[in-house]
Amino acid sequence: MKARINEIFDSVQGEGLYLGEKQIFVRFFDCNLSCSYCDTKLDRFTEYEPKELLEEICLYRDKYHSISFTGGEPLLYADFLKEILPLTSDHGHKHYLETNGTLFSELEQLIDRIDIIAMDLKFPSSTGMGNLWHMHKKFLKIASKKEVFLKAIICQATYEEDLRQALAIIKEISPSSVLVLQPNSYENQTVLHTKLQNFKEIGNQEGVTTCVIPQIHKIMGLR
Ligand code: SF4
Repeated sequence: MKARINEIFDSVQGEGLYLGEKQIFVRFFDCNLSCSYCDTKLDRFTEYEPKELLEEICLYRDKYHSISFTGGEPLLYADFLKEILPLTSDHGHKHYLETNGTLFSELEQLIDRIDIIAMDLKFPSSTGMGNLWHMHKKFLKIASKKEVFLKAIICQATYEEDLRQALAIIKEISPSSVLVLQPNSYENQTVLHTKLQNFKEIGNQEGVTTCVIPQIHKIMGLR
């Protein structure tokens, strides 16, 4: 059982509710989506057995908040994760899953081993892809058994109706979860600012705790 891993490194979390926490990052190769704003460079990988990955993780000796399993899409490697997560648990690590929120069957197999889920909501008007709401709904139902918060990239092209659809799903399935709105880092931030404030207000009026947190690692040039 091998997984294709793009990189392993330590840094601080650059987005979402755990911004600034020190983590070990394991970035898996490949993704099942192709968002128009994607800037994740996945041009190379190394294959790891679970025990080889554990050995690499054990080289990081500082105190870490958790291991961030990220990508690409880490749930493409559900069978591999089933093997590695008990090993990293035994070494005292917490598991933080960064996911695009679509592979619900895979999440179901792993949910008992995950501590925190940072789940994307892909707004069709932001990603330029089709509608993924049915997958997000199934995913959030499973994710809500654990700590989960949601993230959505907001672009100039993002429609308010997508925000309202996302809020309806959160209210129905996991009303206490926080929605983090993230400005697309490659667009004019002044133009986006007004839209984000408006969206934040709509979210809070609808009873979903909604905040705006930019992707700090991109601004600061962190990995
Ligand atoms: S889900 Fe993430 S990694 Fe995959 S295409 Fe979209 S932005 Fe890129």
